[in-house]
Amino acid sequence: MNEKLSFVNPTANSPWGTYLSQVDRVVPYLGPLARWVETLKRPKRALIVDVPIEMDNGTIAHFEGYRVQHNMSRGPGKGGVRFHPDVTLEEVMALSAWMTIKTAAVNLPYGGAKGGIRVDPKKLSLQELEKVTRRYTSEIGIIIGPHTDIPAPDVNTNAQIMAWMMDTYSMNVGGTATGVVTGKPLHLGGSLGRVKATGRGVFVTGREAARRLGMDLRGARIAVQGFGNVGSVAAELFVEAGAKIVAVQDHTGTIVNTNGLDLTKLVPISRTDGVVGFKAGGDIVPNEDFWDVACDILIPAALEGQVTAERAKKTTAKLVLEGANGPTVPEADDILAERGVLVVPDVICNAGGVTVSYFEWVQDFSSFFWDEDEINVRLDRIMMNALNQIWDTADKHKIPLRTATYAVACERILMARQERGLYP
Ligand code: GLU
Repeated sequence: MNEKLSFVNPTANSPWGTYLSQVDRVVPYLGPLARWVETLKRPKRALIVDVPIEMDNGTIAHFEGYRVQHNMSRGPGKGGVRFHPDVTLEEVMALSAWMTIKTAAVNLPYGGAKGGIRVDPKKLSLQELEKVTRRYTSEIGIIIGPHTDIPAPDVNTNAQIMAWMMDTYSMNVGGTATGVVTGKPLHLGGSLGRVKATGRGVFVTGREAARRLGMDLRGARIAVQGFGNVGSVAAELFVEAGAKIVAVQDHTGTIVNTNGLDLTKLVPISRTDGVVGFKAGGDIVPNEDFWDVACDILIPAALEGQVTAERAKKTTAKLVLEGANGPTVPEADDILAERGVLVVPDVICNAGGVTVSYFEWVQDFSSFFWDEDEINVRLDRIMMNALNQIWDTADKHKIPLRTATYAVACERILMARQERGLYP
């Protein structure tokens, strides 16, 4: 953690700094609600926890964990938990704030929260992973709950980890509290469609953006950075619509095939060996070359800060779909806008995941489960309604989609803040 960290003084170019500058850009469109904007510039609550576990070799290891509740004006905190060796408090603050904007942008009755553990899960045995998850859950148990703050999967976390979190919380409170986390396995109160929901939302918003740009998806060339749950699912849906995936990058490297990569082979291989395991299906190139590959659509679906000013200058994409949270730094945003590249921002583009998380939570409370068609129809409707409203706002003020999304979302959040009033 940066020693000089304070809520209002971010490290330069950090995710929190990016978020604060995104909030600054929306202030002129908030009218009298601007009076409350400071509330968005600091998290409501941030918890740092020590996560000690006994490793398989008998040593004791300590990991640092976080849960940040950025805003709860509109409902309980909501947001994933990330396991990554580079996680910091400042990063989790930004991720929690983006959840606040995201849940408001699609009008879900939630605030925003996020969690993380500074750990490389690839270096842990399954047993160690379970211990880390359970101890972390127990430590943050003082602030999470089905009506206060509901975690979910994010980078390097999955349904099994959610099952352990649900079980640990339930053991501590007595009973079975399925509604405390979303993204659970199907037979433990999980929802159909949740695993693919984020990628599906990227596709739905991307298809609409392409339509408005007059871009034909048939034959469109797509470059995807990050080939996990978000990037690979979105890529498959775009291929079904006739597009071709010309470049994919993941933590193992970058593979390029200008004729289109065969996803029926690439996806299963990438799960075990990473994308470079599919050498037979394309050329392995240096990672920086990914940004030079000629494409029509760019999907950053990995980590924050990937679309830098330099990369924004060279991409040939006409459309950027932010599958990741915070992939574009503000300077790059300006460059893309000047170059006429349309950016569908993270806070709407990847909102499909939290939307189906909301469906899961509703189903858990009603103990009545919907079929997958019903989930997908409702997901598509919520995403399209939100996107259309954002687009109208962008057209009205002649502002980028990101600022328009913040305008729609911040109005909802700050209106709730104002109506609730300050306590005491
Ligand atoms: N981690 C996902 C996100 O960044 C989903 C969060 C959730 O389902 O609560 O939106």
